[in-house]
Amino acid sequence: MSKKHGKHLPGQSQDGGVTDAPDRHQAARARVPSTAVWAGAADAIAGAVPAALGGHRPAPIRVAPGIVAVEPGMRIDLTAVDADADGGLDKVWAKDALGRERERISALQERLYAERARSLLLVFQAIDTGGKDGTIRSVLKGVNPQGCTVSSFKVPSSDELDHDFLWRYHAKTPGRGMIGVFNRSHYEDVLVVRVKELVPDPVWQGRYRLINDFERLLTESGTVVIKFFLHISRDEQKKRLEARIADPEKHWKFDPADLVERKAWDAYQQAFADALSQCSTPRAPWLVVPANHKWFRNYVIARTIADTLEAMDPRFPKAAKGIADLKVPN
Ligand code: ADP
Repeated sequence: MSKKHGKHLPGQSQDGGVTDAPDRHQAARARVPSTAVWAGAADAIAGAVPAALGGHRPAPIRVAPGIVAVEPGMRIDLTAVDADADGGLDKVWAKDALGRERERISALQERLYAERARSLLLVFQAIDTGGKDGTIRSVLKGVNPQGCTVSSFKVPSSDELDHDFLWRYHAKTPGRGMIGVFNRSHYEDVLVVRVKELVPDPVWQGRYRLINDFERLLTESGTVVIKFFLHISRDEQKKRLEARIADPEKHWKFDPADLVERKAWDAYQQAFADALSQCSTPRAPWLVVPANHKWFRNYVIARTIADTLEAMDPRFPKAAKGIADLKVPN
């Protein structure tokens, strides 16, 4: 399976993404409403969208030290990534630093929202008890809820099952200016669906390519996609499940089915390794986060989001001419 998709990875093909960039640039300008308020936004879009659309440019993702980015075309061996790693950081320092990263995210989000040209999609995947909920709660504290949507994906409804597997995810992708968070994602369709044999093998096998195409569509349309895999050890999962059983306030989080799922640990690890290997692309790489230590996980994820937003360099639209001289009537 190693290097299987290497030749077909988005960003490495020769499909003319660069040569048609000027047309897209013009199209982006043409879509901008021509009111005074939007005069500045048009400039922001003119500067921002071609960079976001640049057919062969890698994503501006800035990965914090301690996170393992899966190299496109290579096979990731999850057993070689230490879930216990803490980068040698001090816990008290990291908690403090997390506060500073949150402030950066909040300030940059305001610009992203005002610019209204691009968007950011954060994908979180993990095994049960891996910490998706806690990460989202902690890292996005301080984000303006008006500029952020969180979508949690459960067992598909019959309506969802009546459509192609990407339908429900595409409907929840963030619009321009927004941060979108996927708590579970389109990857479930090559993870739980594979492990529980919900579709024939050729069906889930064909989905890696479709997922890469989908993410390519998003990234070429101005969405930066960061995919975090929260990597915990088998022992850590045992501890977390035991903690849920021991604490009455955590019983609501405990599902006896989690114990059945735990028996499929190896099958899930295999499915994760395959998904991460097949779908780590230059535009949308997979990031493996050592996640046994919650404080380390939260800090490196927040730092990655803040640094990436900074690299995206969202700008406030220019004010309409003469706005500073306007007087508010009594
Ligand atoms: P969570 O574990 O994310 O907090 P739940 O306890 O409600 O939330 O679990 C959601 C369940 O939905 C998980 O067991 C997950 O595997 C399942 N699920 C999500 N997407 C799909 C899918 N596409 N097909 C089948 N099951 C899915």
